[in-house]
Amino acid sequence: MTTKDKHQLLRSLPGVDHVLEKTRHDDRFAAVPRSVVKASIQTVLDRLRQDILSDRQHSADQTEILSETAALCRQKLAPRLVSLVNATGVVLHTNLGRALLCDDALENIQAIAAAYSNLELDVATGKRGLRYSAVEELICELTGAQSAIAVNNNAGAVLLALNTLAKDTEVVVSRGELVEIGGSFRVPDVMAKSGGRLKEVGTTNRTHLKDYGNAVSASTGLFLKVHASNYKIEGFTASVDLEALVALGKTHDIPVMEDLGSGTLVDFSAYGLPMEPLVSDSVASGADVVTFSGDKLLGGPQAGIIVGKKQAIDRIKANPLTRALRIDKLTLAALEATLKLYRDENEAVKKIPTLRMLTMSFEETCSRAAVLEQSIKDACGPLGGIASADLESRPGGGSFPALRLPTRCVTLKPDNMSVAALERRMRLSCPAIIARIENDRYVMDPRTIQPGQETIISSTLKTVLAAE
Ligand SMILES: *Cc1c(COP(=O)(O)O)cnc(C)c1O
Repeated sequence: MTTKDKHQLLRSLPGVDHVLEKTRHDDRFAAVPRSVVKASIQTVLDRLRQDILSDRQHSADQTEILSETAALCRQKLAPRLVSLVNATGVVLHTNLGRALLCDDALENIQAIAAAYSNLELDVATGKRGLRYSAVEELICELTGAQSAIAVNNNAGAVLLALNTLAKDTEVVVSRGELVEIGGSFRVPDVMAKSGGRLKEVGTTNRTHLKDYGNAVSASTGLFLKVHASNYKIEGFTASVDLEALVALGKTHDIPVMEDLGSGTLVDFSAYGLPMEPLVSDSVASGADVVTFSGDKLLGGPQAGIIVGKKQAIDRIKANPLTRALRIDKLTLAALEATLKLYRDENEAVKKIPTLRMLTMSFEETCSRAAVLEQSIKDACGPLGGIASADLESRPGGGSFPALRLPTRCVTLKPDNMSVAALERRMRLSCPAIIARIENDRYVMDPRTIQPGQETIISSTLKTVLAAE
């Protein structure tokens, strides 16, 4: 096309207002805010001008302009944060939102969010109260701690505790515990931001009590232990247990803090799983401060919980940073409801989704796999490439680093498309189905598929498989 033709074509394009007028009586735009329609038309016309100028293929046809605008409007109105089906078998999947809330938590969020509340009112006195009071007693009851406070997340809890207890002092940490948690939480970086100075002791695989002792100087402010949540050092290893460190701290008058990361209120060894550190054990060991996450093994909302000696927690409460990291009322509502269930462990394991999925027996995964397989066969008819396979689920979320849970999965190898294409199409479906590929098969793990989601999976599979 000559430059002259291009300019003629550009001049002949409809104006924004002209197209806007056309959309007025078009059902595709009936529910779309005018501002969105107008912005979309502008984008479509801009693109068209660019295409014409750079000799790309284009259509200046009005019907085409309208359908492109309608498609763009649909895209803009579609929600970005959407729920999906986790068929990966990774229970605390960081990318998929970590812990699912229990019904009690959801109901309490609804009740507190829709009405005024006593968030910061002491109803008994009519005076200003503290938002932490909603959960402090409960956390102390469940962990044996003297005092507690909940903040935005555990990274915030660690930052806040270090800033309060160790600003401008040296914090002694074992080299084997300078961990990085996915998503850029690195102990040395958080330490730097807190104003504490890292004093590494020991080696990657072995650290002894005397290493801590030798590091003590006039500027030592804290002994810190960090739970190696997401990895395991095996072989020739040694680490100092919290109790011994607390005893050493006493002789030097140095407080001791432990970042448990996940931390749990339930002894998982009673369910055939390995031991994860119990918050109550760390408290009983005499640590001044213990921090852990609300949405890892606890199975509650995103939060950071700090428990410990009254004197240390009082100082943390008075730190101005606490205000910047404060817990939101919806989180508080969910946290209180979740924690309450822990008064009866059977209730907790039954009702808190994370605990339910982690303690699900192999037999239960088998019966769930059978339900899923039947649902797929009912929807898709006879499928050649379907088979069950005994594989392993992962706890995820920086808990039980080496643990694999035996699970029966439903696997698929379609004959009309590759396994990678199937995975991609399922992921791009609505709702998205996220599963894993193993041994060149599409693997769906019933451990994290919620009851009732089998039919969503099977109808999506039907559509995806028929598309070819
Ligand atoms: C997960 C984790 C954190 C961060 O907790 P968030 O709740 O994700 O902020 C900190 N320390 C350890 C050891 C962890 O495992």
